[in-house]
Amino acid sequence: MIDLRSDTVTKPSAGMLAAMTSAPVGDDVYGEDPTVTELENEIAALLGHEAGLFTVTGSLANILGVRALAAPGTEVLCEASAHIARAELGAHAAISGITTRTWSAPGGQIDLDQIRGLIAPDLGPYFVTTSAVSVENTHNFGGGTIQTSYDALADELDTIGLPLHLDGARLWNASVASGVPLSAYASRAAAASVCLSKGLGAPVGSVLVGSAELIKEARVWRKRLGAGWRQAGVLAAAGLYAVRNNVERLAEDHAHAQQIAELLADAAPGSVKPDQVETNIVVADIVTTGKSVAEVIETAKTQGVLIGGVDATQLRLVTHLDASASDCRKAAETIARLLQ
Ligand SMILES: *Cc1c(COP(=O)(O)O)cnc(C)c1O
Repeated sequence: MIDLRSDTVTKPSAGMLAAMTSAPVGDDVYGEDPTVTELENEIAALLGHEAGLFTVTGSLANILGVRALAAPGTEVLCEASAHIARAELGAHAAISGITTRTWSAPGGQIDLDQIRGLIAPDLGPYFVTTSAVSVENTHNFGGGTIQTSYDALADELDTIGLPLHLDGARLWNASVASGVPLSAYASRAAAASVCLSKGLGAPVGSVLVGSAELIKEARVWRKRLGAGWRQAGVLAAAGLYAVRNNVERLAEDHAHAQQIAELLADAAPGSVKPDQVETNIVVADIVTTGKSVAEVIETAKTQGVLIGGVDATQLRLVTHLDASASDCRKAAETIARLLQ
């Protein structure tokens, strides 16, 4: 099976497993796991922040990061297909008492005009007050897009005095593709999260970064939500290995995604614009082919290729370190045949 459903499907490599089994560990709830501490410090430094917190998932890192910026009963603005709005099962409302209002833009891009129109200052006891703006970079359901107005939004929020939350699950991909350093992106946000378990290939984990004070509070809330952990250094070691070995190679995943996009664009003209595929995610709209997303996914599976769907008309293929160039070409050829 060639599995391009997600970049979360990777398995730890031999080198990563060796790092995990030889990691020094301790009780992280007591702050005594040296490998966890090393990971948190290394990622905080890489992202230009004071402190970091290792979490079991990116969703938890986002829950902790957003709640640190927004009090219960206030709102966070985000794009309509943002992970925090669509794919965290309402956690920000269910757990933190935070509502979202959304703008909608192609590729999940920042739209400054729409955001300006949405931002609600404190108008007294009637309208919900905006506490923060959250941006995803790269944007997952937008097709792995890099935010083009990221700095412009950050500048504007600085002027207004509103904090920026960065869901940087795939910030590594944005940085490798754009050449913009990780810290140049992340340091603009008051709280930022990155995933180790996506394209970097670790089995588990994300890191939230922010000020020492913000992370201290997030650490309390992590434990309060039942997600304190003990000898988590075995997992942190995988994260350290991933950050030290698997970032630069993301360029290969991007090249593979580009190849896939070109093959699909040839087979189903207009389904995907290869010049808009910037990183490791290919979203193809197959509405004009007359095929259904469910049918293509099912048939591809019988031919040894696993892919995903975003909605009723869009397929999603994600490249990663366990899918070679020839795997990706084979998968794209299979899907291309099914679309013709
Ligand atoms: C994967 C992902 C997350 C976190 O997902 P978990 O499965 O909770 O680790 C957050 N944001 C984006 C954009 C993602 O793609």
